[in-house]
Amino acid sequence: MLLNLPLSRYKLHRAAALRGDSVVLDELFARAKIISMLADRFECSGNSLAFISPKLAEGDRYFLGLSSSGEPYFVVHQASELTEFGDNFQSLRTLGARLDDLEVGAAVHALALTQWHQSHLRCSKCGAQTQSILGGSARQCEVCSGQHHPRTDPAIIVLVKDSQDRILLGRQKVWPEKRFSTFAGFVEPGESFESSVIREVAEECGGSITGMKYLGSQPWPFPASIMIAYEANISNPGSVAADGQEIEEIIWLTRDELKSKSASGELLLPPLISVARAMINAWYGPMAESELSGQSWRN
Ligand SMILES: [Zn+2]
Repeated sequence: MLLNLPLSRYKLHRAAALRGDSVVLDELFARAKIISMLADRFECSGNSLAFISPKLAEGDRYFLGLSSSGEPYFVVHQASELTEFGDNFQSLRTLGARLDDLEVGAAVHALALTQWHQSHLRCSKCGAQTQSILGGSARQCEVCSGQHHPRTDPAIIVLVKDSQDRILLGRQKVWPEKRFSTFAGFVEPGESFESSVIREVAEECGGSITGMKYLGSQPWPFPASIMIAYEANISNPGSVAADGQEIEEIIWLTRDELKSKSASGELLLPPLISVARAMINAWYGPMAESELSGQSWRN
């Protein structure tokens, strides 16, 4: 069974056929639900996105899609160097587990798209300026006319297990103490997801994989990843060790050990919106939500 992942709840119809018609897009915008973003933050009202009036919308406008009832959704984005925001502007990391299915999908799309635009203001072929086209689904170079499309960087994430059904978690050197997670890494050029899983586990802990199972995928727009999740059994649980480079510490855990260490604060689990947490919770079982409610990482 595939995992039910919090940021994979996408309900909008992307309506790509409408992106090329600026007259239709103007008409849709005038009656749209408009998400307001400042840098990577979302304007909020309580536990929902605060949709703003088209008349008040300032910034770059991108079309997201239509709801099942035909309501158009757009995001309006203002770039900003701000690092401090008012309470009414929240990050997707904070909002991700709270928003309903429709809003979270729109927010994930909006964050991924706005960050891509911000980092592709110039043409990668000739260096000239680019302009948003097709409702914001692409950019075009003003000089060489080259078209540029949003890119997503695939990264695998893997829950390593042994034959006793224990799981192996690791702590990266750059993380604060007590913070543990599953193993993960970017897929390299020319590599399949499966080869990437085998390589990452071998590199980070010396694990030798005997079999793996696909668990699902989740967009992770921080800034442009998609996480492809697997669980994998290894044949050498007794001889794995942290690589000392990226991973500083590893730990094998039974369910009871995970429960007691997370309750005591000896081990901090990944946040609820992460694939890592979803994999750990699914392995733990139906009681995960109540029994692993100890502290998570701070975002
Ligand atoms: Zn160009």
